[in-house]
Amino acid sequence: MKRASVLALFAALVSAGLAQTTSPLDKEADALLGRIRDAFQAGDREAYVASFSPEIRDREWEMASSFLSLWKMTGVKFHKASRVLEDQEGLTLYLQVLYENPTAAMLETWQLGLGRAASGLVIASKKVAGNITTLYKLDMPAGRVEKVRRVAVRHEDIDFEFNDAWVFYDNVSELETGLIVLGSGRMRFAPSSAVERHQLSLRYKAEVFEDRVESAYLRFSPSFFDSRVKIEPAASPSPAALPEAELKRAQALFRKYYASSFTVENSLTGGLLSFLPQGDQAAFEFKTAGHGELAYIYSPFSDEEVHFLQRKPNEIVSLYSPERAGGPEKRMFVSFSQKSDILRYEIDLDFEPNRTYLSGRAKVEASSQVGPLDSLQFSFNAGLEIVRIYDQEGRELFYTQDRERQLLYVYFLRPVEKGQTAAVEVFYRGPLEPPVQTTDVLPGQYSETISLILPKYESYLYSQSALWYPAPSEDEFFQARVRLIFPPGYVCVANGELVEEGTIEAGRRVLSLEKVGNPFRVFATRIPVKYLSFMVGKFDKNYGGNGPQRPPLQVFVSEDIRLQRKSILDEVRAILGAYEGWFGPYPFEKLAVFQRFWPTSGGHSPASFVVLNEIPKNTELGTSVVNPDSPVDLSRFREYPVAHEIAHQWWGQAVTGSSYRDQWLSEGLAQFAAAEYLRLKFGERTFGNILRKFVQWTEKKSVFGPVTLGTRISLLDFEAYQAVVYNKACVVLYMLRDLIGPEAFFRGLRRFFETQAFKFVRTSAFVRTMEEASGRDLGPFFREWFDSHLLPEVQVRHEVEKNGDAFTLRVKVHQPKTAFVFPLVVSWQEGRKTVRQTLDVDARTKDFIFEASARPAKFKANPDKFVPGLFFN
Ligand SMILES: [Zn+2]
Repeated sequence: MKRASVLALFAALVSAGLAQTTSPLDKEADALLGRIRDAFQAGDREAYVASFSPEIRDREWEMASSFLSLWKMTGVKFHKASRVLEDQEGLTLYLQVLYENPTAAMLETWQLGLGRAASGLVIASKKVAGNITTLYKLDMPAGRVEKVRRVAVRHEDIDFEFNDAWVFYDNVSELETGLIVLGSGRMRFAPSSAVERHQLSLRYKAEVFEDRVESAYLRFSPSFFDSRVKIEPAASPSPAALPEAELKRAQALFRKYYASSFTVENSLTGGLLSFLPQGDQAAFEFKTAGHGELAYIYSPFSDEEVHFLQRKPNEIVSLYSPERAGGPEKRMFVSFSQKSDILRYEIDLDFEPNRTYLSGRAKVEASSQVGPLDSLQFSFNAGLEIVRIYDQEGRELFYTQDRERQLLYVYFLRPVEKGQTAAVEVFYRGPLEPPVQTTDVLPGQYSETISLILPKYESYLYSQSALWYPAPSEDEFFQARVRLIFPPGYVCVANGELVEEGTIEAGRRVLSLEKVGNPFRVFATRIPVKYLSFMVGKFDKNYGGNGPQRPPLQVFVSEDIRLQRKSILDEVRAILGAYEGWFGPYPFEKLAVFQRFWPTSGGHSPASFVVLNEIPKNTELGTSVVNPDSPVDLSRFREYPVAHEIAHQWWGQAVTGSSYRDQWLSEGLAQFAAAEYLRLKFGERTFGNILRKFVQWTEKKSVFGPVTLGTRISLLDFEAYQAVVYNKACVVLYMLRDLIGPEAFFRGLRRFFETQAFKFVRTSAFVRTMEEASGRDLGPFFREWFDSHLLPEVQVRHEVEKNGDAFTLRVKVHQPKTAFVFPLVVSWQEGRKTVRQTLDVDARTKDFIFEASARPAKFKANPDKFVPGLFFN
């Protein structure tokens, strides 16, 4: 199928439903496949090979035999990925083939060359693409149930032990991949990481998690079962009959947990199929006596292998790489993002605000990075319906979905060779409310009263958390061209620059007649982005960019705000100017700023636009109360939210953290940028008050975890997350500036931006760049300030000696507990003169000597309170 006809098909799908026509040739092909299916089902090899041309019958006999005898498959289903294609090569047909029996399914892709024989069509050639995938129709409880004396499961930092328990095995014979255990048990989880033990003690008041367990649902690989699961049979063969209630409990546990791990929904059978965990891969779901339902998941294929989760609500308790004796072990695995590189998107999207409904076509181009690439993995909203997926030849592709993790897997008909590119086209639709943003945000207050009058503020923001298009499931930067169709009267902005706009006309590429007259806008990126976003809303006309200034600026204001505020255009220009000097050139094509009233204050900053949400102060529902005590509330300064959000264009969008642990690269640096802008605008005194506020919040909340625990801190205490990842990181950056000097500091920042833009970056890269800029080992500085929840405890003693006419001031700085590195300001009076010195504290104990002309008096350490911690004079 050619591109044009795919588009035509899309039109048909969206507006009038799928109309299929079947050619006589396709009817013949269907008959051929029917004969093959019936012969396979009957186990009739003779009849099976009769549908193949004589030259390949021996080989097909062998293949059919292995599926029938070796794999014990009892049936086969075909799904035509394309119609029969006719060209000079002859007749070609692509098929997805699903072999199945009651417990398993095997998937293959066939490329068939068809020929003619007296009996009708026959298969003249058959190529099988990719590796065969085996999936299981897992079920528990199945036939085998035992009452046992003891079940013990031991894995990385976790132990289970059940006594006198019922054990239910899975239905897959000769293969153990699942167990349900009911009985009286105990479990113990003792993380090898000190940070994780501290997190456990915050949550559960103990560094080791122990509890009684009444049930466990276990999934693992057969090798895991052999080496890590020990089952001791009952002393005498169990005479006890399985109580009906226990059977019911086991059935209920299976229904509850089956979908949550190692399963996918597929487009061929529609049902859930399970794949086999590999190596140490495992997932345990268990119910404890005192802490409800929990889960332990071990993923050798992710960065941090151990996941310890609380269910209801789903929350990460621990996530880390276990510390192993003999140092870090190099783990060899290739993740999806390393296998493929997503290059660009072409998206056509129709958006209907009145029912928040999306109809989309996303064409994704990807290249194969390491070897033959069988499939692509995307993050995609499980609430949206996938209508069809095609390859670039217009052949329909098989896909599976993991709804719990909102993942979509698309399988190529032929593997893509290393270095080659391929494209898939996903057609999808469905209602989708704009969700709350969770990244690159400035979280704010929420007003219940304002949410009641929300419909008045008509605007719709779809960004990363919406998963409104099949997005890369792992970290990638890519290019995109997005065409959006929306009703008249709305403003529409997406990432990149506006390259085309117009109105849908009848007779052109029309989606349906009712769209005629609707405006469309096409946005294209020149600069890569990490996710796609768009805003459609009723905004006042743009207070726009006059003159040839770079970047092009637009400010969009919801009508209600316009009545209360003057445009912030001048402020935006001033902020951009300051940031370009400090960090380097503005990284994107344009900057559009939206100011809107919203029930939640704060903002969001996707690439090339910024959304500022404000709770209206006066409404017909009364005055809304804003809590001025939030760690990130600087509501006195209306410049603050806009300065913070614009900073995300550099920090968060262009330079972005590679995991939740590097979140401070976005929030800490944005907070720093905003504080620095307020310093520039209002001077040192105002700045001092702001920084002291950040220090106070750091001291109040630091115990909840280190900066490099990132977003996870928010799970225990949302204010602590802001206080640590936003404020403490900002305070640490100011200490770094004072330690290495502003010149080296800003040179380092610019260098970091220049070398790391459009990459996913780890904190270690920041440390390295700052070390290069300053010529100083900053390992000890960052280790204590970023990787620990502790703050310094410092004794500062001073002595004065008279030396003839002069005086000697001796200062001794001692840290009895931990050796933090920091710049310590000390001040004293010499007569009427105030002397200030910055001490470079880089050891547990350090002595400093100063000469003074008059007797030093009123000695103070940390007088500005810019260093968090406890200071004893
Ligand atoms: Zn932010």
